[in-house]
Amino acid sequence: MKRCVFLVQAAALLLLVLSACSAKPEKAGTSIFAMDTIITMEAYGEGAQEALDEAARRLYSLDDLLSATKEDSEISKINKSAGSFVTVSDEVIRQLEAALEVSRRSGGAFDVSVQPLVSLWGFGTENPHVPGPEVIEEALRYVDYRKIEISGSSVRLSEGMSITLGAIAKGYAAKELSEMLKSRGISSAILSLGGNVQAIGSKPDGSKWRVALQDPKNPAGTAGLFELSDMAAVTSGGYERYFEQDGKIYHHILDPKTGYPSGSGLISVTIVCRDGMTADALSTALFVLGEDKAVEYWRDYGGFEAVLITEDGRMLVTEGLRDSFRQNGENYSLVYVQKGGD
Ligand code: AMP
Ligand code: MG
Repeated sequence: MKRCVFLVQAAALLLLVLSACSAKPEKAGTSIFAMDTIITMEAYGEGAQEALDEAARRLYSLDDLLSATKEDSEISKINKSAGSFVTVSDEVIRQLEAALEVSRRSGGAFDVSVQPLVSLWGFGTENPHVPGPEVIEEALRYVDYRKIEISGSSVRLSEGMSITLGAIAKGYAAKELSEMLKSRGISSAILSLGGNVQAIGSKPDGSKWRVALQDPKNPAGTAGLFELSDMAAVTSGGYERYFEQDGKIYHHILDPKTGYPSGSGLISVTIVCRDGMTADALSTALFVLGEDKAVEYWRDYGGFEAVLITEDGRMLVTEGLRDSFRQNGENYSLVYVQKGGD
């Protein structure tokens, strides 16, 4: 009798295990507009929908905090009070410190104080246009990250300056959300914030997330594919935001030295790195630096991998991506970049 009960229990247990194996994990997906871009998120596991609802709320509040155009954001407060110290949240300080480090390392190719130029060009408004050379010259006087002072939780710009976190905030948001989702027990998710993709864990079946690299010369097509887990892949490209005037294209990534859209010869830069915030800052920085200095940056500092696409049709892939990136099509000639030089 005892043996019989045991057998029945064992069979019930087996059934439970089998049904647990065959049951698909809960899947949730959402798409919102925040931080000036379309954001899509997909998560798997128990509580996935509630976790994404919280992620969406968090994105709206980060947008309110970090926007350079919303009147009440902390960034607007810093800009309106140029000349005086303003106390801000930890979140702003962390981004500014990360931004300043990339600014120093890139010799100012990355500079959050480009906002006077962004406003002049009218990026993010209904009416972007090419400003006159005199006004660009005048605005350049106020672009200099070395004049940003941070003291504890306060920030001071020198008079006339203004900042934007446009090149780093989406990466920061992706990093924060990935930590929040993990703390809620979500171990499989993928977030896409404009050109910023953050992979959390792997796909529910254990395989890696597949992330497409947009073809900068044909943005409807793909130029390659990454296979990633627990990693961010962030792309900066001139094709992402631009306007046309007198038959010429002007894009939104500015060279803080000249005041004009960066013409470094790179048309797309993708950074693959665990930390989404660093990846975001670096994609912009290396785009402005151009091929030679971007490779030098990678060799000097490391901690990330990159795919650089040049105007003249080359695709430079750092050697750490050999196993996790493959090219699609033949629009570009692929060259691996080695740590030790060419
Ligand atoms: P991303 O798309 O991440 O490369 O960031 C581009 C955005 O960052 C622009 O829309 C500007 O708001 C801002 N930006 C443009 N040029 C620079 C620069 N050289 N350094 C820092 N931020 C920049
Ligand atoms: Mg960026």
